[in-house]
Amino acid sequence: MIRYLSIPLLAVSLSACVSTPSPEPAAPSQSSVSAPTSANAEQAARQFVKVVQTVEPVAEAECRARTTDLNCDFNIVVDDRPGQAPNAFQTLDKNGRPVLAFNIPLIATVRNADELAFVMGHEAAHHIQEHLARQQVNATAGALIFGGLAAITGGGEQIVQTAQQVGATVGARGYSKDFELEADRLGTVISHKAGYDPVRGAAFFTRIPDPGNTFLGTHPPNALRINTVRKTAAKL
Ligand SMILES: [Zn+2]
Repeated sequence: MIRYLSIPLLAVSLSACVSTPSPEPAAPSQSSVSAPTSANAEQAARQFVKVVQTVEPVAEAECRARTTDLNCDFNIVVDDRPGQAPNAFQTLDKNGRPVLAFNIPLIATVRNADELAFVMGHEAAHHIQEHLARQQVNATAGALIFGGLAAITGGGEQIVQTAQQVGATVGARGYSKDFELEADRLGTVISHKAGYDPVRGAAFFTRIPDPGNTFLGTHPPNALRINTVRKTAAKL
């Protein structure tokens, strides 16, 4: 597995929300993903920080508008465990604060800010729609994170935290197909309100392995997800 950024790496175990097993062949019209140079890595990190700064306040406002008594203070973290496929997930820390985690391969392989914003909106939506509480699941604990990306913003306030810093227990789990589509709909609204193009963002699905309509698959077929985003965006 390629290491996209040269940073200290820490180990652990965990699973997925935007499960993207292995790099897929690129869409025919696009060039394939190659190992980013350090300049690309820096650009990816800057893009990530920018998307965090723009999407987080919108997600928080949407959370407060749609819920009562729910902790809407999102903590966005980076999962730097090595050897992972691109992945993002939502969980709660031990104090009940919502955590949105993105790993480095995902940050490095999204094609544009719209894709990253859409994934971020989707993960925030899982929390706002209380999918964890609505789905009885066992937590898979443990992810260790790094805070180095925050320094790239130039010494301002640290917007990207580590799980260790906040004492978070970070776990991930798969949701049902219905919850995934629900999160895609609200994720479309959030990324649109944050100024991004959710339809362009959903193009991310065209490059990840399609779970198809398998009986036990936890994720909906990619075409269904894209269609859901298009329909939702058309009403905005
Ligand atoms: Zn999801």
